[in-house]
Amino acid sequence: MSKIINRILRPAIFISAALSILFSGAPAARAYTNPVTTLRIGLCYEGNGTAMSTLRLSNVVGKGFSFGSFDASRKFVKGTVTTAAGLSSIDVNVKNGVLVVTNPSDNTVLYQAAAATAALAIMPVDSGTAKSITGTNWNYKYYGGFEVTALKSGKMQVINVVNIEDYVKGVVPVEMSASWPLEALKAQAMCARNFVANHLNAHGDFDVCDTDHCQVYAGTSFATANSDAAVDGTAGKYVLYNDKPCTTFFYSSNGGATESSENVWVTALPYLVAKFDDYEQSVDTGKSNWTFTYTAAEITELLKKNGYEIGTVTSVTPTYTSVGNILSLTFSDGKTSVTVKKQEAGNILCSSALGKYTYSQRFTITGSSSTKTGLFINSGDNPLESIFSTFATGGDGGVSKVAVESGKISVMTGSGLQTIDSYGSGRPQTGATYVVNGSGWGHNVGMSQYGAKAMAQLGKTYDEIIKYYFNGVTIA
Ligand SMILES: [Zn+2]
Repeated sequence: MSKIINRILRPAIFISAALSILFSGAPAARAYTNPVTTLRIGLCYEGNGTAMSTLRLSNVVGKGFSFGSFDASRKFVKGTVTTAAGLSSIDVNVKNGVLVVTNPSDNTVLYQAAAATAALAIMPVDSGTAKSITGTNWNYKYYGGFEVTALKSGKMQVINVVNIEDYVKGVVPVEMSASWPLEALKAQAMCARNFVANHLNAHGDFDVCDTDHCQVYAGTSFATANSDAAVDGTAGKYVLYNDKPCTTFFYSSNGGATESSENVWVTALPYLVAKFDDYEQSVDTGKSNWTFTYTAAEITELLKKNGYEIGTVTSVTPTYTSVGNILSLTFSDGKTSVTVKKQEAGNILCSSALGKYTYSQRFTITGSSSTKTGLFINSGDNPLESIFSTFATGGDGGVSKVAVESGKISVMTGSGLQTIDSYGSGRPQTGATYVVNGSGWGHNVGMSQYGAKAMAQLGKTYDEIIKYYFNGVTIA
């Protein structure tokens, strides 16, 4: 059995997500109705090494299976020849290049394809009451039917042909814990539904795969009453911008601020705009802070491994976005310099050999020989490293939080008005070692899952959560 799906949290590096921002070809419509409500989900296929040698399907609710084909509108059309009436399980194999379906108990042949190229549609016969569920030999269960195709390798491609709402029910509890508050799960359901609406036919023979390359999907295997209720409670609804489903990126946590899409990947989208996160800090994200140190030699080695020609690094100059996420890193050996930008600025500081990773775009880098930067309180040894929790006493004696929208504040000094940049953007960091300090886990673009959880715990509804993380959207 080659088919294994791990339940995962969002991975640390999100290269595939960056690709999907390049195509958001949703059909235009005023009041949006998804034209395709039956999806094709790749479960086992050659591209990722999960093609199956043997497929065993078990009818969990009813008895028997029908064989046929899926028409152009993805509707099951029963074949004229064969069924596996009354059987609870069937085996599908490839023999002499064609699909053969057998009865597992006595190996009698129930169906044999006429040609190697023929795709076989298999639909469980329902019980007449409850919705059909089919078990598989990788121990996951699915709604809907299956399309099986023999591959030249002698293995099979398996596609789950399933209603979009049932698909979303299979995504929500593996992309977010089903025990989280209902409104957070509803926000996750909206993101899952939008994602697939923007990825119809995006994967060759199917719409999306079932791994984190697209969205993790495990059929009904991990669904709970709570996660199903989140999908039912938002059924048929989409997050729209200019009446089209928008690209609803999400991640585990941002560590304090989201980021504009063009500062992480390439394309600027009006609803993916940087902002400080007002909610995440009220929950334990499990990745609130992380830190590690590189030597100059280690950083030099990482650059070389990534194809950059540079001598031993003597300085690293970071620039930061308006909300303090990393924007670029310039490494210099004193003669040559190399600049990496946006997501690559985070990726370049990841080393699996040394077990050091930047888990989000929210980090700073400080050289051991650098003079401290920031606002100095009392003495030069005591810098205020962040100005985001700075309070000022006004003329009336009242205390209020200093407004820091751009990462800069202006102060009156003996020599006039001066602007302080809290991040030290553009200041070269020097030394033999470099400390990376960060927070959050994800690419910072779009919805924070932990932020959604925090908002739900504070009584916010899913539409408030969606509208908080996606600027200027509507839900319909
Ligand atoms: Zn995929």
